[in-house]
Amino acid sequence: MYHSVGQRVQDDPTGAFTLETEVFREQLRVLKSSQMPVVPFGVAQSGSVALTFDDGYRNFLTTILPELEKYGFSATFFVIPKRVQDEHPEFLTRADLKTLANHPLIRIGGHGYSHQKLAEIPASNLHHELKQSREWLSDAMQYSVDSMSYPHGSVNVPVARAAQAAGYRFAGTSYPGVHHTGHFSCAIPRTVIMARDNLALFRAKLEGRWDWNRARMTDPYPSGEGA
Ligand SMILES: [Zn+2]
Repeated sequence: MYHSVGQRVQDDPTGAFTLETEVFREQLRVLKSSQMPVVPFGVAQSGSVALTFDDGYRNFLTTILPELEKYGFSATFFVIPKRVQDEHPEFLTRADLKTLANHPLIRIGGHGYSHQKLAEIPASNLHHELKQSREWLSDAMQYSVDSMSYPHGSVNVPVARAAQAAGYRFAGTSYPGVHHTGHFSCAIPRTVIMARDNLALFRAKLEGRWDWNRARMTDPYPSGEGA
């Protein structure tokens, strides 16, 4: 799971989710040399990886897509309709969406209608956020949108069931991990790639070896020696 590449954006003031273009290029080189198949989001295939990008920044089109094209890697871009309608210069335009929708490597999915925390809003708003998002994007692109990711990773069982009921076949959480065929397809784990990840960490995430809990704790006895 990526967000922005190359261009610092308002919603990421610390830059934690915005990769430098050269860092992104290096990661794609590592991915290519790994020979792991890059599959569409939602496919559970052992040893493969799916690339997803949240929020719908304009650099999807200007920076990220040209890099993906060099390798023929496919990706899913999760877009927020409200941001497109507001015509904020950091976000994709309607014309951009049409261009992306016709691109053979790219799938477009939803990311809530207005990027709200779906597990924290009333049921009536939840329905609107899920359904309007899918319908607006499908209309704008003349394309059937069947996937989404949960804004802010905010999801629980009722939200995931509501996403399925709203017509999504696949939905991604922000809970890190490896996607198995046994997962509910509207709660697919995704591992975030951060701006400061070094290549060793990127490789660990790519290979499903990154331990989220360990990454957030300090080893209380780092020498590992016996008593
Ligand atoms: Zn988001």
